[in-house]
Amino acid sequence: MPELPEVDVVRAGLTPALTGAKVQAIEVFDRRSLKRHRPELGEFEEILPGVTFMAPIRRGKFMWVPFADNLALLAHLGMSGQMLLRSPDATDDKHVRVRIWLEHSKDGELRLDFSDQRIFGSLAIDELVETGDGFAAGLGSDSSLIPIQAAHISRDALDPHFDTAMFKRRLKRRNSEIKRSLLDQSLISGIGNIYADEALWASRVHPQMPSAELSNRKVDELLINVKQVFSKALAEGGTSFDAQYVNVNGQSGYFAHSLNAYGQTGKPCARCGTPIARAPFMNRSSHFCPKCQRLGRSKVI
Ligand SMILES: [Zn+2]
Repeated sequence: MPELPEVDVVRAGLTPALTGAKVQAIEVFDRRSLKRHRPELGEFEEILPGVTFMAPIRRGKFMWVPFADNLALLAHLGMSGQMLLRSPDATDDKHVRVRIWLEHSKDGELRLDFSDQRIFGSLAIDELVETGDGFAAGLGSDSSLIPIQAAHISRDALDPHFDTAMFKRRLKRRNSEIKRSLLDQSLISGIGNIYADEALWASRVHPQMPSAELSNRKVDELLINVKQVFSKALAEGGTSFDAQYVNVNGQSGYFAHSLNAYGQTGKPCARCGTPIARAPFMNRSSHFCPKCQRLGRSKVI
């Protein structure tokens, strides 16, 4: 599932081709991929032709492409969404749901194919609103405007305006385990199952540790490690072990080779050699080192 690094690899890859590109035409092959479009703004296929895209922006796992003072194309990749840049005569990829034909002054005619095998992702046109704090809404532009559907999510750990003090205050009031808090996009955005397991392993924190019991120092350490695993994954092009995530050119990322906890069940912990354990978590799994990431009996919730 794409998390912050994978979405940012897509944003960075699309920026040169989309910025200043004019939309020529839209083809919708599967309307389920438009489930988050707001029809009161008009038909998706009718609004976009003729508009000129500005630079794409990302906050957490949301990416949007503004094209007017108050409107943007909003993309969420869900479990398996891909934004693929193709030459006009390229062969069709499997699972293309929406195609945007573009004309770029330098690159000429291009196809932006939204491919999504499992259809949890979506494209939508959404209205832009002020962030409220006046800072840039996300990475990619100085604009403080954000799509309504993304306005509820917190800034992410790589955002220079992420409010660490507020994050700590809110964690103290949480009854839930720390991993669940890390995945709560309204508390801190961009983290999914992979990078939560990696950051917790790096910080020696058990995924079931009650959020409120983490010391300020431990929270600082955890945030540093979230940034580090994100930065490392970004440098390596994102994580792709199930071949569902690919960048705009269809190439997979390499971060899967650097995972210390996620998906490493039974393999020796890189720190102490103890086999990595797996525990059920919200219909999925948590992966951790039972020796480095201890949880006292009293801490079980
Ligand atoms: Zn260990």
